Amino acid sequence: SLDKIPTWREDNYSDGREDGNVLTGTGGLSEKVSLYKGDITVLELDAIVNAANSSLLGGGGVDGCIHKAAGSCLYDECQTLNGCETGKAKITCGYDLPARFVIHTVGPVARGHVGPTETNDLTSCYQNSLRLVKEYGLSTVAFPCISTGIYGFPNEPAGDIALNTVKSWIEENPNTITRVIFCVFLETDFNIYKKKMSIIFEDN
Ligand code: ADP
Repeated sequence: SLDKIPTWREDNYSDGREDGNVLTGTGGLSEKVSLYKGDITVLELDAIVNAANSSLLGGGGVDGCIHKAAGSCLYDECQTLNGCETGKAKITCGYDLPARFVIHTVGPVARGHVGPTETNDLTSCYQNSLRLVKEYGLSTVAFPCISTGIYGFPNEPAGDIALNTVKSWIEENPNTITRVIFCVFLETDFNIYKKKMSIIFEDN
């Protein structure tokens, strides 16, 4: 299913550009990221990230969707993990999901407030998830918009954190991950990510 999801480069530059330079060469950041709008549970990747709560025992939003699609074996494995602290991440199998693994991370409960704690915790969610991807030798992963639902992290700054943290991580770890998919669910997030990605992942 990954072949059906274009990279950010293909999305934007496949019709060619006047300057003719953008499509030459490889290894640009825009070849390693995608923007996808829809249900994360259908993605056939090495891993999908779950915006879990600290119990890791399921909840609403994307967490509920992932548990429903993965089946009760996911719940059983999660019960053995003793929860997870905010900003940290733990990995399980994907069970009935098309994804091989689920990385459960716990975003900050922001309730509309973005201070240093919320910012650092959300940044850590992305970093610790990517660290697990690397540790497990995985190469493709999708992230939902962590904390922006029930946890109330404002969408715009959450998008900045997601995109900039992933960008830095890819730059610092160039030989691990081949594709990170930003899986947005809402039109507002789609528009926010689209606008920011055209700046952050512009190769030239
Ligand atoms: P949090 O508790 O971390 O705020 P939520 O699950 O409430 O997590 O929301 C996080 C984001 O996940 C929101 O943008 C929400 O719209 C989105 N979302 C909900 N269901 C899905 C799904 N099936 N696939 C991808 N994203 C989803």
